[in-house]
Amino acid sequence: MLIVSACLIGVNCKYDGGNNCHPEILELYKKGGVIPICPEQLGGLSTPRSPAEIRGGSGGDVLDGKARIITPHGEDVAESFKRGALESLKLAKHAGAKKAILKEKSPSCGPYFIYDGAFSGRIVAGKGVTAELFQREGIKVNSENDFKRKG
Ligand code: SF4
Repeated sequence: MLIVSACLIGVNCKYDGGNNCHPEILELYKKGGVIPICPEQLGGLSTPRSPAEIRGGSGGDVLDGKARIITPHGEDVAESFKRGALESLKLAKHAGAKKAILKEKSPSCGPYFIYDGAFSGRIVAGKGVTAELFQREGIKVNSENDFKRKG
């Protein structure tokens, strides 16, 4: 089984109520064996919702209680993001999934890059909270940009 970020197959679960539909990933889903997840919705956040960025570190720092996830109004939503990561992991484990394709640059899903926490549009190296938790638990995480790469 393969886990994918639900927004990548056209589910309108993005913070602004839209999606990030990727035609090839949607085709994978149609063939079967794919479980869509949205960690932010699974964490109890509404759609639409405020955008949020990790401040003071990466997804691993959030999991370890060393960084926050804040909205532009300064609300800390880290607990919802952590809850969503744990629920996503539960689904992945129940399904025996060993791989995931997660949406780049998301504070939940980003496998390689996230925003810098200042709402400046600047991108920095780092993982989202769910991507980090999946990796810690032995689930291989790719993004929509490198999921076809072997190995
Ligand atoms: Fe997509 Fe992940 Fe953001 Fe949900 S949390 S909208 S699945 S990138």
